[in-house]
Amino acid sequence: MASLQQLVEYCDTLLGVADYQDYAPNGLQVEGRGEVRRIVSGVTASQALIEAAIERQADLLLVHHGYFWKGESPVITGIKQRRIRALLAHNISLLAYHLPLDGHAALGNNAQLGRLLGITVEGRFGSGPGGGIAMWGTFSQPLSPADLAARLGERLGREPLLLEGDGRPVRRIGWCSGGAEGYLEQAAALGLDAYISGELAEPTMHIARELGIHYLAAGHHATERYGVQALGDHLADHFAVENYFVDLPNPA
Ligand SMILES: [Zn+2]
Repeated sequence: MASLQQLVEYCDTLLGVADYQDYAPNGLQVEGRGEVRRIVSGVTASQALIEAAIERQADLLLVHHGYFWKGESPVITGIKQRRIRALLAHNISLLAYHLPLDGHAALGNNAQLGRLLGITVEGRFGSGPGGGIAMWGTFSQPLSPADLAARLGERLGREPLLLEGDGRPVRRIGWCSGGAEGYLEQAAALGLDAYISGELAEPTMHIARELGIHYLAAGHHATERYGVQALGDHLADHFAVENYFVDLPNPA
């Protein structure tokens, strides 16, 4: 068991929240009961994930995508009202970490993704503290773009979309989980052979072709399952609380 305050302070410090400029508040977003025995963790604080937390009698819901995004309406109506009402009615806290949970050197989405794919991390790019939240690294053996796509599909349980640049094999590769296709040009400027992120917009195919870099859209949800899981498991070890990761499939 842990006190909510202790647990939140620990996470804020561990993830270096104060170093980030983000689109949503990182840390405690909805305050529930003061003691935490059981955590349910998941990618997005949807109604379905809240229902899963209620069913498992969680004290705290730990997510990567919480609420109160910049540009979103600040009023609590509709979907947002129903979600927050359910949390408050069951005294469940909502703890959300966005960019700090992408960038953390060991527990972050990108560190975990690198490990899962068998890449040795060599450096960082993109934006954010410590050189940026995106990572680049090397495979010990070069892979063909098709073999890389197959490895992604097998390890993430979701087929990626592969946009081939030129025909080169992949040895040096960059990646950033979620909606980070915007770093593709930076990845090409670093001389990387391929870049992985979650989503795919129309201009990306032309950019990949014209810069000669392979781009793989591996799924926003599929690439962001791992950080919150690693953080939840870490908290379970550190505080003797329980963590149940709940994966609610999302093809996007
Ligand atoms: Zn995301």
